[in-house]
Amino acid sequence: MQKIKMTTPLVEMDGDEMTRILWGQIKDELILPFVDLKTEYYDLGLAHREETGDQVTIDAANANKKYGVAVKCATITPNAQRMEEYHLSQMWKSPNGTIRAILDGTVFRAPIMVKGISPVVKTWQEPITIARHAFGDVYKASEYRVPCKGKATLSFVSEDGAVQMNQTIYDFECPGVIQGQFNKDSSIRSFAHSCFQFALSTKQDLWFSTKDTISKQYDHTFKDIFQEIYDQDYKARFEELGITYFYTLIDDAVARVIRSKGGFIWACKNYDGDVMSDMVSTAFGSLAMMTSVLVSPDGNYEYEAAHGTVTRHYYKYLKGEETSTNPVATLFAWSGALRKRGELDGLTELAAYADALEKATIETIESGVMTGDLSSMWEGETPAQKVNSLEFLKAIRSRLETALS
Ligand code: NAP
Ligand code: MG
Repeated sequence: MQKIKMTTPLVEMDGDEMTRILWGQIKDELILPFVDLKTEYYDLGLAHREETGDQVTIDAANANKKYGVAVKCATITPNAQRMEEYHLSQMWKSPNGTIRAILDGTVFRAPIMVKGISPVVKTWQEPITIARHAFGDVYKASEYRVPCKGKATLSFVSEDGAVQMNQTIYDFECPGVIQGQFNKDSSIRSFAHSCFQFALSTKQDLWFSTKDTISKQYDHTFKDIFQEIYDQDYKARFEELGITYFYTLIDDAVARVIRSKGGFIWACKNYDGDVMSDMVSTAFGSLAMMTSVLVSPDGNYEYEAAHGTVTRHYYKYLKGEETSTNPVATLFAWSGALRKRGELDGLTELAAYADALEKATIETIESGVMTGDLSSMWEGETPAQKVNSLEFLKAIRSRLETALS
């Protein structure tokens, strides 16, 4: 069989622990036999981040900007215990945070649905994609534990030194708490553009919700910016495609999401997206069955799995025990990135290969062959056959070979 050609390299960001093992297996079994793979390789494994003073993460993110498309393996975000385990000189920052800051993107997460594993919410027939604004609000807030009686004020001093606003937050008669949050129009605009672009490219409706009735300046600004950008830049294209942009109060959105059939994108502010993506992914099945892609407002894409490095399984693997870790999310990161590369470079064969790879994966599970995390949720007609990760990948490979021959 002739291998499928690529023109532009894909930025490949390798990672840690069990997902690093799966990474190699996915490439060996499902990609290299079929594709004349061209990548620019960056090792984001923690040992190499330490060796390079984390420069490798910055270089990888810049390569993502240069070439447009990257695929990333899950990576360890160090904590005190990892400092000892890996003899680190510093508690390096989360690679995802570093990459996000350089690309200025929005993260889109969507469940991978298979027959035989049904969502907890009975009405959901299509995936619900959560778009989380990954900048500011409570994640960059200033906080203070008020210890005694006293007055908290909020003020703004403009560049020229003039006090534009000074208002009492609360006159404390006892101890309490205060918090100051911010966001920037530029970041909200980027978020809005990423969401509208993603809706166009996936041909799905876009919902956006905030608490603008209570937060008349802060949340209302989000609402106004989205509306302005929609009217100016996207309304015509949305109407052409027959998709809609829909704004509603977050309480109303939650109720509508639960009663919906799915099949849309739900854009959320940072905190809402953090919480709602965990709820939605759990209700759909598991994190191992979620795709995750970071989309920058200028059209760069970074594909990854939504889960972490699956440390518990890795320690078992190191002891020589058999593991049945689910490689689907990592595999879909590869197929998503290769499809996007194919679309951008006009390589229809490469895009078709990515479709075939995803189809073979879903059919393998629907035929009853799956990893342990899924077999415990299985409600299909054929009994589930629990296999280890490599056996699962080999079962996908034989289906893919048939499909492509
Ligand atoms: P995790 O790696 O997502 O794993 C948590 C648990 O979820 C696992 O122990 C396993 O449950 C289950 N699980 C997750 N992915 C699975 C898969 N593919 N197949 C089967 N089961 C799966 O989260 P964590 O243990 O909290 O974090 C481990 C490391 O990952 C940390 O160092 C963290 O910093 C890093 N992390 C990285 C990213 C990223 O790079 N995007 C995201 C999150 C966390 P059972 O043990 O019950 O089987
Ligand atoms: Mg969360």
